[in-house]
Amino acid sequence: MTSVKAAVLTAYEQPLEIREYRALTEAGPGEALVRIELAGICGTDVHLWLGQLPVPLPVILGHETVGRIEVLGAGLEKDWRGAELRVGDRVAWASSIVCGECYYCRVKRQPTRCVARKAYGISYCANDHPHLRGGYAEQIHLRAGTAIFRIPDTTPSEAVIGAGCALTTAIHGVERCPVEWGDSVIVQGTGPVGLAAIAVAKQAGAANIIAIGGPPHRLELARKMGAGHVIDIAAMPSIEQRRKEAITLTGGYGADIVIECVGYPDAVNEGIELPRDGGRFLVLGQYANAGNISFNPHTITRKQLTVQGSWGFEPRHVDRALRMLEIPHWQHLFANEITARYPLAEANAALDTVKNWRAGKTVLIP
Ligand SMILES: [Zn+2]
Ligand SMILES: [Zn+2]
Repeated sequence: MTSVKAAVLTAYEQPLEIREYRALTEAGPGEALVRIELAGICGTDVHLWLGQLPVPLPVILGHETVGRIEVLGAGLEKDWRGAELRVGDRVAWASSIVCGECYYCRVKRQPTRCVARKAYGISYCANDHPHLRGGYAEQIHLRAGTAIFRIPDTTPSEAVIGAGCALTTAIHGVERCPVEWGDSVIVQGTGPVGLAAIAVAKQAGAANIIAIGGPPHRLELARKMGAGHVIDIAAMPSIEQRRKEAITLTGGYGADIVIECVGYPDAVNEGIELPRDGGRFLVLGQYANAGNISFNPHTITRKQLTVQGSWGFEPRHVDRALRMLEIPHWQHLFANEITARYPLAEANAALDTVKNWRAGKTVLIP
């Protein structure tokens, strides 16, 4: 192969362009070249496409990726867990690299807020050498220091991408806002992050999980992931009615934990009423700046709430996600979340499918 095709975001809200780059054949010390097999389309990609998060254009999108090692640079012999890495191995990797030296990395141990954090498929301009730093492409160049994970042979690639960054994001969120055994949990939103949050809450021992979302095919997935009750926002459009229903389903007091995974600012006002007094509210869904809402802070004081946010994930959350995906139950469920598959040339149709909520999870097969 002498050239590599990639779907490139060149201007916000404009169709991605299929561009060709010279195929890379060499990797420097600690670097790797990977032939991409499967790339997930994340909701964040839609936000990037719409210009809701600043990125250096042009950019090759795609930060949820599985591929096979083509070239290993000098010194790169083991994956993040210490397992031997060889050419041909099937791998995934943490999408971000942090500096390890800044105030947040070193002093405050919040590497997801590293001031120099860079993410594949987001922070790399495709005009800059070595160009191939995103998942919507046939090949990717991984920088030295990337947390690479050899995927166990028994874990299908579709499970890894079906889970995508939603699962690692949910694992990080629930680490910050822990679900205890027997807890009641309300999850707002049944997109990939909401479904993953349901799975993580279930795996953590939540006894009663209530999902608020839609459309019906997503609510069906929510049930399979572990929601004992689902509330369809289309069937119950009144926020007041949904609030009553959700609180009744927790036994009348509200949930121990409410996890917002919607992304629309108004969902925060709906969600903040749903924890029990002294409960916790995790805002996990506001990944893009979607604007302001009016908000009554009295609720936080009166209900003695703990309100938390969580951003991105660290390599150890990828490790946890891959371990969760070794369990056949989760493997099947996350792999089955994928209901739309497109070749690279149809990347625009794939983005459109995600934007309009037409599928469970959408992937590109480069
Ligand atoms: Zn993502
Ligand atoms: Zn840093």
